[in-house]
Amino acid sequence: MQKNFSTMFSDKINLHISPEAKGRLLIIYTGGTMGMHYDPMVKSLVPFNFSDIISTLPELGRFDLTLEFISFLKPIDSSNMKPLHWISLAELINEQYLEYDGFVILHGTDTMAYTASALSFMMENLSKPVIFTGAQLPLSEVRSDARENLVTAIEIAAARKNGKPVVKEVCIYFNHALMRGNRSKKLQSSHFDAFLSENYPNLAEAGVSIEFNEKVLYSPADKPFKIFTKLDSNVLIVKLFPGITKEVVECIFNTEGLKGIVLETFGSGNAPTDGWLEAILKKASDRGIVILNVSQCIGGTVFQGRYDTSRHLEKSGVISGKNITTEAAITKLMFVLANKPFSENVKASLEESIRGEMD
Ligand code: ASP
Repeated sequence: MQKNFSTMFSDKINLHISPEAKGRLLIIYTGGTMGMHYDPMVKSLVPFNFSDIISTLPELGRFDLTLEFISFLKPIDSSNMKPLHWISLAELINEQYLEYDGFVILHGTDTMAYTASALSFMMENLSKPVIFTGAQLPLSEVRSDARENLVTAIEIAAARKNGKPVVKEVCIYFNHALMRGNRSKKLQSSHFDAFLSENYPNLAEAGVSIEFNEKVLYSPADKPFKIFTKLDSNVLIVKLFPGITKEVVECIFNTEGLKGIVLETFGSGNAPTDGWLEAILKKASDRGIVILNVSQCIGGTVFQGRYDTSRHLEKSGVISGKNITTEAAITKLMFVLANKPFSENVKASLEESIRGEMD
């Protein structure tokens, strides 16, 4: 038994020690379907104690790796994930950074893209792999996708070239594809290919062998690893729709303490040209509320001024989110508003890619 890293985590346990270990990984279990089972008492899926995973997945014992395991004391459905959990994960990785060659985070699929995006911003100069994975069916089920997802995520986290990790960023591995975390979205709740990175190529494809697309992997600056542990939750996502009323928009924009809004617009960043909308947006940006324009489309980019229906946004101080996902946009906003030096020039920080989240 070893020491507790924070009140949120269990003690670490050794899952597997290979006598000829070529690497050492920490597997962090937060909850999610992968480790859930059906509880007849509550008649739904609930998280179960995942620490005896080796008996369920003996394949893990065949890796030439040392695998250690740590879990949230209370594993959660990822719908309950909060910034507080993101901060604990960043702190754990920071504390354990030198001990391990890579990290695999087991997480529910529902909010995995938010957590992966948030962590990508909170960790600067990351030069080791942090691979998120999960499953659409619990590990205990015969047709579960958990085995392949977990085993390949471990292999990716352990992959090295010329003595250095191949992957040096926060990723999601799911259903044979490795994606940049802050480019991914959950698109499917009933198929195995739950995630998509529409605006950025997959970082690797896992078939008979794992083929890395080295040209598109992130290269961090050769500087010391550092984490940022502040997030500002005074933010909102507002999705426009035909017929949205002035009263509703006014009410939302007047929310007390509001500091930033991700405005989900149509197509390439377009919005109704009604004078009242322009006036509300202008008034909000004059009051210092940051408004980031992100498209409701899965693919493509925001281009303010391409159509007349987006020129007024530019004039009202709305910032183009280019081709960022909503998940990355909202977590970037929380991050940028709370941390220096980004908070000293919020607009410039949102307009530039800080962790490969947009082009
Ligand atoms: N509700 C689950 C969660 O996100 C779904 C999953 O894991 O796939 O925790």
